[in-house]
Amino acid sequence: MATVALDSRLSRPTAAFLSRTHKLLIDNEWVSAASGKTFPVYNPATGTVLADVAEADKEDVNRAVRAARRAFDSGPWRRMTGAQRNRLMWKLADLLEQHLEEFAEIESMDNGKPLAVARVADVPFAIEWFRYMGGWATKIGGTTIPWSAPGDFLSYTLREPAGVVGQIIPWNFPLLMAAWKLGPALAAGCTVVLKVAEQTPLSALRLGELIQEAGFPAGVVNILAGYGETAGAALAAHPDVDKVAFTGSTEVGKLIVQAASGNLKRVSLELGGKSPTIVFGDADIERAIPGAASAIFFNHGQCCCAGSRLYAHKSVFDRVLEGVTAEAKKIRVGPGLDPSTDMGPVVSDEQYRRVTGYIESGVRDGAQIVTGGRKVDQNGGYFVEPTVFTNTQPTMKIVQEEIFGPVVCAEPFDDADLERIGRQANDTLYGLAASVWTKDLSKAHKMAGLLRSGTVWINCHNVFDPSLPFGGYKQSGWGRENGAEVLSNYTEFKTVTARL
Ligand code: NDP
Repeated sequence: MATVALDSRLSRPTAAFLSRTHKLLIDNEWVSAASGKTFPVYNPATGTVLADVAEADKEDVNRAVRAARRAFDSGPWRRMTGAQRNRLMWKLADLLEQHLEEFAEIESMDNGKPLAVARVADVPFAIEWFRYMGGWATKIGGTTIPWSAPGDFLSYTLREPAGVVGQIIPWNFPLLMAAWKLGPALAAGCTVVLKVAEQTPLSALRLGELIQEAGFPAGVVNILAGYGETAGAALAAHPDVDKVAFTGSTEVGKLIVQAASGNLKRVSLELGGKSPTIVFGDADIERAIPGAASAIFFNHGQCCCAGSRLYAHKSVFDRVLEGVTAEAKKIRVGPGLDPSTDMGPVVSDEQYRRVTGYIESGVRDGAQIVTGGRKVDQNGGYFVEPTVFTNTQPTMKIVQEEIFGPVVCAEPFDDADLERIGRQANDTLYGLAASVWTKDLSKAHKMAGLLRSGTVWINCHNVFDPSLPFGGYKQSGWGRENGAEVLSNYTEFKTVTARL
């Protein structure tokens, strides 16, 4: 086992959790991987090992799927009412709330994000998501369908749980992504095998302990840490999994679709983005500037909906560029646990090399760095400066590809034709989100109609609520997370027709 370096600022419960042996949750038991293997999890602020975690592989996926199948087919879960499932989910949310500080610390250590952000965003949102989704457990129902030739038949639909669900999540909001996935699946009555990201497995493993404490029946939630190419691929391909839900890169999303084709399991995908932030000349510039900066720099740009392409009308472009640059320069980059930190390290060495590689490619292609662009040398951590590019071309990699780091490309537009602006904004293979900044209501709503993306924000960006459907057009995914819409990912419709 590697030597684990703990930070002296951590609270006692967090230090105690990190010092534990981290196993896999299968059938309500914490078990070692069948292979006996473990893998190291790194603290991105220092590059040192934070924990060793059991490494799930195909055999562990088989065990977890068997447990989930048993729990779905013959366990007490199947016989529980929606109200009972709701109560368990609220209990879990209450427990999370009691351990809010501990989860914020784990998230900050594991992912690198500032503790203050995890405290006010990641953990409270996860709690809210479980509560909101718990409410749906009592409200999922079918409809009575009027026949075209009335009289002889009665037809109605039932909505039934989809079955055993495989869920694969990324590292950018580890706990929140677990809540986005588990919440609707549990509300619908499914059982789950959750594969967490290799970079950030810890908060979900701690959540597993609370799931046990809340009293969920055995096998309803199984949590595996391990690598995507092994455990993730085995879960996506497993013949006894009825549905797979994935959040991550578009590239891996396509592999999931291929893997799922063996038994034609249901697939939902929440994938990448290259979201435009569009600032019109009549926008409230004092709000648009910090809004555009936060659209890209929140969570170090590691958001699928990050506003990574900034378009501003030429009448305000210089002011917007100057303002966003000033905001970028103000950001204090440092370890997540340091109270003065605004932006932590990116999540991993691999991500660090990927983001800095994109910055180098932008420079090579002739784009101009207005601010940032350098690595921040701090204690061996994966720190990157908030970076603003201009003088880009639409075909450059930094304009087309998802960087998933604190890097924005800013360009002016001088068009009055909204359709042409829409075409420019839509000119990527993604279609996840966009924001429009203007005081002209009619322009704002016309743009909302022209943008081919699953979410359009007006005079705001990165605004979420559990009630709001979220997902992508084009290669940003299939299906929607959140709101009532997500339930269709986890339910099957059954039509019942009776001759009268
Ligand atoms: P991935 O898409 O590789 O990872 C997301 C999840 O998928 C992880 O749990 C990963 O496991 C798993 N996974 C990886 N390969 C497979 C596979 N063949 N079968 C099944 N599951 C698999 O993202 P990365 O972490 O590699 O990040 C690379 C880029 O992806 C980022 O720079 C960013 O552009 C994009 N990304 C987008 C996200 C989004 O929310 N839209 C989230 C994360 C990344 P493991 O981590 O263990 O390999």
